[in-house]
Amino acid sequence: MSSLFELEQKILLYNPSADIAFLRKAYNFAENAHRGQKRISGEDYIVHPLAIAIILAELQLDIKTVAAGLLHDVVEDTGVTLADIENNFGSEVARMVDGVTKLGKLQFQSREERQAENLRKMFLAMAKDIRVILIKLADRLHNLRTLQFQSERKQKEVAEETLVFFAPLAHRLGIYKIKWELEDLSFRYKEPEQYQHLKMQIAKTRAKREEYIQEVIRLLAEKLNAVNIRAEIQGRPKNLYSIYQKMVEQQKELKDIFDVQAVRVLVDTVKDCYGALGIAHTLWKPIPGRFKDYIAMPKSNMYQSLHTTVIGPNGEPVEIQIRTWDMHRVAEYGIAAHWKYKEGKQGDQDLDKKLAWLRQMMDFQHDARDAREFMENLKIDLFSQ
Ligand code: GDP
Repeated sequence: MSSLFELEQKILLYNPSADIAFLRKAYNFAENAHRGQKRISGEDYIVHPLAIAIILAELQLDIKTVAAGLLHDVVEDTGVTLADIENNFGSEVARMVDGVTKLGKLQFQSREERQAENLRKMFLAMAKDIRVILIKLADRLHNLRTLQFQSERKQKEVAEETLVFFAPLAHRLGIYKIKWELEDLSFRYKEPEQYQHLKMQIAKTRAKREEYIQEVIRLLAEKLNAVNIRAEIQGRPKNLYSIYQKMVEQQKELKDIFDVQAVRVLVDTVKDCYGALGIAHTLWKPIPGRFKDYIAMPKSNMYQSLHTTVIGPNGEPVEIQIRTWDMHRVAEYGIAAHWKYKEGKQGDQDLDKKLAWLRQMMDFQHDARDAREFMENLKIDLFSQ
């Protein structure tokens, strides 16, 4: 089971000068406030805010956000007021807790209405402080991880809402690490039979696929080494839900989906990215139309990478992603990767600049094409009301 100690260790790894006393104070405050409350699992309630704080620490967020994660439910669920939070932890943490509490309170009659309204409020809140959204995503992720304790009806509802709203939100913010986990967990509860079936099928063919990928990695590593490009090459299993979506969209069986497993090449510099691409294309023939240069043209969620699909050594296609380590961090953590965890004045100024930039980026009016794409994902027409 997770502990405060584990949380502290995670934070100290990326922020050795973090104010651990402040964090402990937030933990003790939350633990006190929730004392006696239980999760449906029967565990003490504090395990939930603690798990959220750990997810936020894995995103390497600043200590105030982690503290707000610990405290996010106290105003809603206990006698503690926002003024208490402000007195003890300052206005920044209080504002975040308030933002999360407000989002949690939204309840509407029909599901459609609830989602559309939620969406708008979410974005309004985000324009003020995007960290509120990150806490909300962490909250949803932990609720999904512990969804087995809920009724079947509730499981389906949460899964559906996650696929329609929270996973696309994580996508939009570029936080793929969370997006993938949200999707796979939701898929498991929304379509339990399809999920289990696909999982089994993939497990059955895993050994053969991995053998092939290892061969690709070996050949590529050899050539990169020969031209002095330092690289780490990883075999990359794709998340189940994206495979399932491809099967449904393209009406194909698993055996006809070629990029079930792919290869990722991590290098030090942009120059090496293009160098590695050249090597891959001399080793194997690229499939026309499958090359994408998201380094020269980053996606609106800031994702950067080179993508190509080649006909690999045994004649089967392999997808290859090439990026620098810095790009890799953004690919996994998205917006959260841009956070400064510096404490004090300088840190705050940096944060202000980032937030101003984010507001601009998230402004739908200035981003009509992407907004449409996003809305299509969500199947909600924001402009209809
Ligand atoms: P697709 O196969 O037609 O979707 O072509 P893409 O080249 O756009 O994407 C290929 C794979 O790259 C996807 O299946 C994802 O695994 C990954 N990918 C695409 N966009 C993103 C992104 O914004 N962030 C991250 N982390 N991965 C992405």
